Amino acid sequence: MTETSRLYIKQIEAGPMANFIYLVGDRQTRECVMVDPAWEVDRILRIAAEDDMKVTAGLATHYHYDHTNGIGDLLTQANVPVYIHKADAPYLKEIQKEVKKVDSGSKLKIGGIEITFIHTPGHTPGSQCFLINGNLVSGDTLFINACGRCDLPGGNAEELYHSLQLLGKLDENTILFPGHNYEEGRTVSTIGDEKRQNPYYQLKSLRDFLNLR
Ligand SMILES: [Zn+2]
Repeated sequence: MTETSRLYIKQIEAGPMANFIYLVGDRQTRECVMVDPAWEVDRILRIAAEDDMKVTAGLATHYHYDHTNGIGDLLTQANVPVYIHKADAPYLKEIQKEVKKVDSGSKLKIGGIEITFIHTPGHTPGSQCFLINGNLVSGDTLFINACGRCDLPGGNAEELYHSLQLLGKLDENTILFPGHNYEEGRTVSTIGDEKRQNPYYQLKSLRDFLNLR
């Protein structure tokens, strides 16, 4: 199998806030990670099992409750390591003792598939995106035609601006998998389409961005 045909990515909507939870892994070794374990971990584990995939780790894009409220369930039901950026770990309160803290540039190998962690602060101090062979799972940093808010604890508009600039440097064909189903009828995009259409990429300066946020 080529690296592209080995790649398994499944987008699953769950919870009252239209969260997207992702399973990402290797079709050949049948291993995958669960990105943003929340709301219905048992159902998502069942979906993985129906695809004959075994969940071997959990990854959190950021600490917010709607992306992490299933970490406890994942730890109990699958007993796998769960990773979050070190700057967001303290916000997890009690359960932070049971998660692994990572830094920007960390990599995780799932079978033959490599996941690169990109620190994209702004929505939260430890927000991170996951880059997997030309696919970006972006959490609440970049949405289709929108970006994350920065008025919640730890949010910072200036950092979010720089994080969006960083993501804008990725290959234009990179497929974007956002953290919520916020855009009627569209569940994936590309970095190139966002740079052409997303209003936040049309702003010419940090000052314009700060005026809007
Ligand atoms: Zn969030």
